[in-house]
Amino acid sequence: MNSISQQLFTRAQQSIPGGVNSPVRAFKSVGGTPVFIKKAKGAYLYDADGNRYIDYIASWGPMILGHAHEPVVQAICEKAVDSTSFGAPTELEIDMAELIISMAPNVDLIRMVSSGTEACMSALRLARGYTGRNKFIKFEGCYHGHADPFLVKAGSGLATLQIQTVPGVSAGVSNDTLTCAYNDLEAVQQLVAEHKDQIAAIIIEPVAGNMGCILPKAGFIEGLRAICDREGIVFIFDEVMTGFRLAPGGAQQTLGIAADLVTYGKVIGGGMPVGAFGGKKQIMERIAPLGNVYQAGTLSGNPIAMIAGYTTLKELKDNPSIYTDLAEKTAYLHEGLDRVLTTSGIPYTINRLGSMISVHFSDQPVTDFASAASANNALFNRFFHAMLKRGIYLPPSPFESWFLNQALTLSDLDATIEAARESLGEIGG
Ligand SMILES: *Cc1c(COP(=O)(O)O)cnc(C)c1O
Repeated sequence: MNSISQQLFTRAQQSIPGGVNSPVRAFKSVGGTPVFIKKAKGAYLYDADGNRYIDYIASWGPMILGHAHEPVVQAICEKAVDSTSFGAPTELEIDMAELIISMAPNVDLIRMVSSGTEACMSALRLARGYTGRNKFIKFEGCYHGHADPFLVKAGSGLATLQIQTVPGVSAGVSNDTLTCAYNDLEAVQQLVAEHKDQIAAIIIEPVAGNMGCILPKAGFIEGLRAICDREGIVFIFDEVMTGFRLAPGGAQQTLGIAADLVTYGKVIGGGMPVGAFGGKKQIMERIAPLGNVYQAGTLSGNPIAMIAGYTTLKELKDNPSIYTDLAEKTAYLHEGLDRVLTTSGIPYTINRLGSMISVHFSDQPVTDFASAASANNALFNRFFHAMLKRGIYLPPSPFESWFLNQALTLSDLDATIEAARESLGEIGG
């Protein structure tokens, strides 16, 4: 008999393209039917058939405090009573801006939007308006949302579906997008020399999370910072994933390197649709209504979204030990996975920073998109299903980082490690 998830997926495909509202949810690369979720609490997801899963996606990052976190739910309910949108300024938006600025380094001014895509799209437009230049550099395997200029070698979702070029993005647009391999500083130097005084911005995931979790090599981000300073290029940190996750001040704080503009999303909304971009005053002042770089949003700064984000960020700011706890939990998981993977004899590499971790079935270090892609990703797909069957909900792609949340207990982690041991036995034998 078909499961309720299977029945829902069949029904969904009649009215929604591919049955999903965002492609990575479709399980296309790992195969099988996506699990339809009914509810979640803390570290656990419950599907339409009543199965429980330990969640390592955390809604792709936002649910850092765990699902249905009591203070967040309560704040949303209280706010909703006073109407869900005004399209006019509110004091809460000032509270939110002040809180972000108190946590994030090098952010003098911040503008709220409704998604990470909007944040990156707007930051790029601003960098172009500010410098009067058109071209920009991004890195292969980095994802900056689905705005046209970024859909070149754009990481997880597209890599998972093996989409090389995106129909609908005109050559005029993608010609201004220059790409280099992640961690290849020389390639960046060469591109900058070839396009002298034409490059508006370098945008990067300072710790990449859309080709697995990939760490910048020592000196790489510093080198980019120096190139930007020398050439008058705006350095944009896309911290949609790392912001408020790696540290209260995100990757800027963790790496100790300053960006000119920073984009946020995911954790900043505490599970509501929120993004933001901010940075140095002299650049941010070019945004309308102060300047003529136009950017707007009917639901930007929406009160329900703001209170969910504010409540989440405030808890993170007031309890910085959450970050050490999360990092310890992730290290514990790493050690456990090391143990069972070593025993299995399957070649592997694990990358980890803070509460981000990814397992690659490769005997080579995974330092860029090419090395992530050359792992045994067919084996990952079998691992994914073996884990799912055992109640462990991993991202359905080898090109995604796993995200730990604060509600995970040691016994959840032990259960995950035990499930990995069994799964490796099943797929390796
Ligand atoms: C998720 C993500 C985005 C896009 O954010 P959306 O809210 O999905 O539009 C942009 N950049 C990075 C690094 C992301 O992880």
